[in-house]
Amino acid sequence: MIYQARANVLADLAARALDTPASVTLLEEACSERRWWLEQWVDGEPYIAGLIAQDVQDALADQFGRHERDGLWPVCTRCDGGPVHALHVDPDLGGPDPQWVCEESGQLVAPLGRLATT
Ligand SMILES: [Zn+2]
Repeated sequence: MIYQARANVLADLAARALDTPASVTLLEEACSERRWWLEQWVDGEPYIAGLIAQDVQDALADQFGRHERDGLWPVCTRCDGGPVHALHVDPDLGGPDPQWVCEESGQLVAPLGRLATT
């Protein structure tokens, strides 16, 4: 389950050429923490992929600052004009059916793991 979640998040980072050493390291850390979390709560499986994606997004913001993070994390390509803004993974609980949505408009962009298709 964790491997599938990791693969989905990594695929979406790679789809935007954002699979950098920094983000992959944070992804590994998120996966190992969520592996422990999932052992405590086996019913958490539907939420795990979205939670890992959110963990990485938060960790990038913590490490690099919110502005810098926008160069490290998928940004919205749907909205015309306006400042660059990030995508985030909805719902906030991480699942079920985690999806990329525009941070500004809330518009659905793609299911998690399918960002390459947009
Ligand atoms: Zn947008």
